[in-house]
Amino acid sequence: MFPKSLNRINEVLLKIEWNDGLITVVALESLREECPCAVCKGENIMGKLYFPGMKSFVPGMNELVSLTPVGNYGVQALWKDGHSTGIYSWEGLRTIAELHALDEENQKRYSELKT
Ligand SMILES: [Zn+2]
Repeated sequence: MFPKSLNRINEVLLKIEWNDGLITVVALESLREECPCAVCKGENIMGKLYFPGMKSFVPGMNELVSLTPVGNYGVQALWKDGHSTGIYSWEGLRTIAELHALDEENQKRYSELKT
């Protein structure tokens, strides 16, 4: 499973077309919330999960600067607040996309609210 295309519809929404035909639209905010890096998701050290602290809102944290392909297994996200340690595997991205998929009505509502 991998995306055929990743396109930003506007400042807040990302459209992903998958190779199996599924098209998902997710809020960039959700993508950031689900950032898979150790800083955001906690680090598993010897079976214990360590969190570096509570996540608080940072200006620009939900603004995507770029998505850079990593090998052929995923993309690395660079956010406007400088955060760039999150690498989304295709599998992880698919899980996030299905979990946070917005239908057309919600895409519209979300865009009006956030832009
Ligand atoms: Zn992160």
